[in-house]
Formats: sequence, C-alpha cells, structure tokens
Amino acid sequence: MVGKWVSTSEGRHLAKRRKTNTSPEVELRKAVHAAGGRFRLHPRLAKGCTPDFVLPSRRLAVFVDGCFWHGCPEHGRRTPWTGPNAELWADKMRRNTERDHRANALAEEQGWRVMRVWECSVRADPAGVAARILT
Ligand SMILES: [Zn+2]
Repeated sequence: MVGKWVSTSEGRHLAKRRKTNTSPEVELRKAVHAAGGRFRLHPRLAKGCTPDFVLPSRRLAVFVDGCFWHGCPEHGRRTPWTGPNAELWADKMRRNTERDHRANALAEEQGWRVMRVWECSVRADPAGVAARILT
C-alpha cells in the first residue's frame, strides 16, 4: 500500500496548478468561437466524464489535457519518480490515465465523439487546433 504525501517544494508548486479554465483551455475556446464553433462548457455527460467543452451540433466532446498531469509524449515525465513521494506520484499518474480512458468510454457510450488535445499544441497554435476540431 502507498504511504502519505510528504510536503516538498515541487509539490507545493504543483498544488497551485488549476484544473478548470486553465489558460490553454480558454485560448482554445476563444479560437473555436472565433472560427464559428458553438460549445457548452464543462457539461457532465456521465459520472466521471466532464469534458472541457462539447460541440453539441457535432456531437463532439473536447478535453484539453495538461502535459504534466496527462503525460504528454513531449512534456510528460519519462523518468521514474524519485523522492519520498515517488510511489504516490506514480500511482496518481496511473489513475489519471485510467480516468481519461474511462471518461472517453463514457462519452462514447453516450454517442459523443471524443477529441483530446494537448495543452502544448493549443499554446503553440490555438487556431490550428480549433480548425482540427471544426473539420
Ligand atoms: Zn506537451
């Protein structure tokens, strides 16, 4: 069984990360809106499935995934966790991945298509990501 979280400076920094209305999410919404897409914010499609926004007319659910929490191939952690919380971190990240997969499946069960975009791709090119969403 895993132990208790130990306070570290890295941990305190991470605790400040916001979960909703993060800036890439807002950037993307603006770009989608500017391109004519109409969406609903944070709709709860099922228990454990709340996309960042959905485009009801396209039956499309969009999740903006933070590079860190969702393990982006470019910016996610690739080396094993170290330090007093190593096991807790590994466990937490594993559960994040499982939760993502479950949320995708729940949305699909409700007849939604799911699109996940990395925060880094939104930051690099919000209009480009919006165009992909609206194709
Ligand atoms: Zn990334």
